[in-house]
Amino acid sequence: MPSPTSSDQRGAPYSVRFDRVDKSFGDLKVLDGLSFDVAPGERVTLIGPSGSGKTTILRLLMTLEHVTAPKDPAADGGVIWVDGKPLSHMEKGGRLVVANERHMRQARKKIGMVFQSFNLFPNMRVLRNVTEAQVHTLGRSKDEAEAKARDLLELVGLSAKVDNYPSQLSGGQQQRVAIARALAMDPDILLLDEVTSALDPELVADVLGVLRDVADTTSITMLIVTHEMGFARDVSNRVMMFDRGRIVEEGAPDEIFSDPREARTQDFLRAVL
Ligand code: ADP
Repeated sequence: MPSPTSSDQRGAPYSVRFDRVDKSFGDLKVLDGLSFDVAPGERVTLIGPSGSGKTTILRLLMTLEHVTAPKDPAADGGVIWVDGKPLSHMEKGGRLVVANERHMRQARKKIGMVFQSFNLFPNMRVLRNVTEAQVHTLGRSKDEAEAKARDLLELVGLSAKVDNYPSQLSGGQQQRVAIARALAMDPDILLLDEVTSALDPELVADVLGVLRDVADTTSITMLIVTHEMGFARDVSNRVMMFDRGRIVEEGAPDEIFSDPREARTQDFLRAVL
């Protein structure tokens, strides 16, 4: 097997690469031969109708789903690369190729995700929510993890809440803890899945403000699924419009939002804007 690199033939580096990825759930084909690259530091927003496969892309990157389903290798296939390393075992010419476990672990460690439903540990105080994985997954000392957690909780405006339990916080505050928790792992790539959808409207701005700060002050690569088109326009360098597991159109936010070429993009934007 040729050794994977994180550059394509033209030498352009990438942080995430989908290479002809097919993904089905039962008879439903959710991703259809999908290929795209995301460059280091790029912030890409995925838009498109419900069911077009956006969340599945993020879940595949988090290895919450897999492209090579052991039960149905014929239906699924393709390779997802993160910084030149495969995320999972790869399918090649209909044959399963076993990738190097260490490379797969390295690839997975680079990615953090924030979910629509916060997913905080309800039985742990805010501080411990942000230290837990640092200690158990990254092997940091408790002191080091706490110092990092306190810094990040300050960044998201929650220094006063470190000793509270998640249930004592508003949804917007819980989501800001979830952002701090993801950043505590020093990810190269941050996945944001509809992070404001579960929030009351008055809490949305705070969460988006924190994410704008993160985008302005770091070079983290971001893949963003959102219905907040203003946020997408401000924060992303590129917008990809999906329909039925394929990219219909992509371009700079101004191009896509002001002057979409494809009828499906025009219809979608008319419905959400
Ligand atoms: P989007 O994020 O664009 O709304 P999704 O990626 O969530 O789309 O879903 C694409 C399609 O796959 C939907 O029809 C959804 O119901 C289906 N789907 C997603 N996850 C699963 C699953 N674990 N099992 C079965 N169907 C699924």
